[in-house]
Amino acid sequence: MAQKRDYYEVLGVQKGATQDEIKKAYRSLAKKYHPDINKEPGAEEKFKEINEAYETLSDEQKRQRYDQFGFDDPMSGMGGGGQGFSGFSGGFGGFEDIFSSFFGGGARQRNSNGPRQGEDIEKQMTISFEDAVYGCKKKIRLSVDDECTACGGTGAYSKSDIHTCPDCHGTGYILRRQQTIFGMTQTQSVCPRCHGTGKEITRKCDVCGGTGRVRKTKDIEIKIPEGISTGMSLRMEGYGAAGSNGGPNGDLYITFNVTPHKTFVRDGNDIYLEIPISFTQAALGDTIEVPTLWEPEKLKIPAGTQSETKFKIRGKGVKNPKGIGRGDQYVIVHVKTPTNLSKEEEELFRKLDSVEKKEKKSVWENFKNLFK
Ligand SMILES: [Zn+2]
Ligand SMILES: [Zn+2]
Repeated sequence: MAQKRDYYEVLGVQKGATQDEIKKAYRSLAKKYHPDINKEPGAEEKFKEINEAYETLSDEQKRQRYDQFGFDDPMSGMGGGGQGFSGFSGGFGGFEDIFSSFFGGGARQRNSNGPRQGEDIEKQMTISFEDAVYGCKKKIRLSVDDECTACGGTGAYSKSDIHTCPDCHGTGYILRRQQTIFGMTQTQSVCPRCHGTGKEITRKCDVCGGTGRVRKTKDIEIKIPEGISTGMSLRMEGYGAAGSNGGPNGDLYITFNVTPHKTFVRDGNDIYLEIPISFTQAALGDTIEVPTLWEPEKLKIPAGTQSETKFKIRGKGVKNPKGIGRGDQYVIVHVKTPTNLSKEEEELFRKLDSVEKKEKKSVWENFKNLFK
C-alpha cells in the first residue's frame, strides 16, 4: 500500500482550516472525483481518499486526535493499515443522491398548471349471447364529471374574477433556497396558495363552487360490434371525465361479460352444437337440417356414422371482431338407442337380430372372440 497522504494535503487546505473551508474543499473535490462522473483511472481511489480525509477532519474529536497522533493513533485502530473510511457509506448513495440537491431535485416535478386529461371511466356490461354475436346498440347511463357550463370550467364567477397568483406569479410552483453543506440548493414545490393552477379566483362560480366541474348524468348510446366475447373491452374516446386547463376528456372503457346460450357453445369464434340422431339415421345415413347462428344448414350424415362424430360446417361461426371472416360451426352427433319400442319396431329389431346372427357374426360375437 502506498504511503498515505496527509489529510490536509488531500483536501488541499491549511492545517488550521475552519470547518467551512474544509466543507468547501471537500465539496468541490467530491464533485470532481465522484466515480459516477469521473471515469478516469484512479478517480475512485481518489474519491475514497477524499472521503476518508473529510470523515476525520469534519469531526472535531477525530481531527484533534489526528493532529496529535497522525495515522498512528493507538485508539482508532487505523494505525498503519488505514481502514478508516468505510466505503461509500458515509451518508452517500450514488451520484443522484449527492447531486440532485445541487441542481434542484424538484425540476422533475410535474407542472400541474398545464392541460390535463380527464379521468378514464371503466364500466362492466353484461350482454346476451345473441347481442354479442350479432352486435347491437345499447344505452348506458353514466355519472361523469363534466365541465361546468356556467363558468366554462374556470371555476370563476366571471372572467374579471381570475387573477394571477401573487405567490408564484402564475407559474404554479415556488422555489425554495436552502443552505446545506453542499452550498445553496434549490427545491421546487407546488404553490400552496393556488395548488399549482397559477391563478387566484376572487369570486367563485356559484354553480360548481369553484371546481370548474359538475357531476352530470349522461345517457349515451354505444354500438357494440359483432363478435364481442367475454373480457373484451370497448374504448370510447372522449366519453370519460372532462379535462382541466384545456386538456382533453378521458375515455370510457366498457368491458363485456357475455351470458352463455342454451344450446350453442362458443369457443373463440367457433360454435359447437350437439344434436341427437336416431339409430337408423346413423346406420342408414340421412340428410338433416341443423340450426346455425345464421341460416339453417343441410348436413349429410353418411351411412355408418358412429356416435360422437364431429362434423364441420365452414364459416358459420362468429364473426371475427378484429378482422374479417367467421369461425366455423362444429356439429357433434349423439346416436340415441331407441327405448319404448312399439310392437312393430320390436318385431323389426328381432328380425334384424336374426339376420345378423345368420349372415354375419354380430358385433358382440366379434368382441367375445377377442378374449379367446
Ligand atoms: Zn400560486
Ligand atoms: Zn362553474
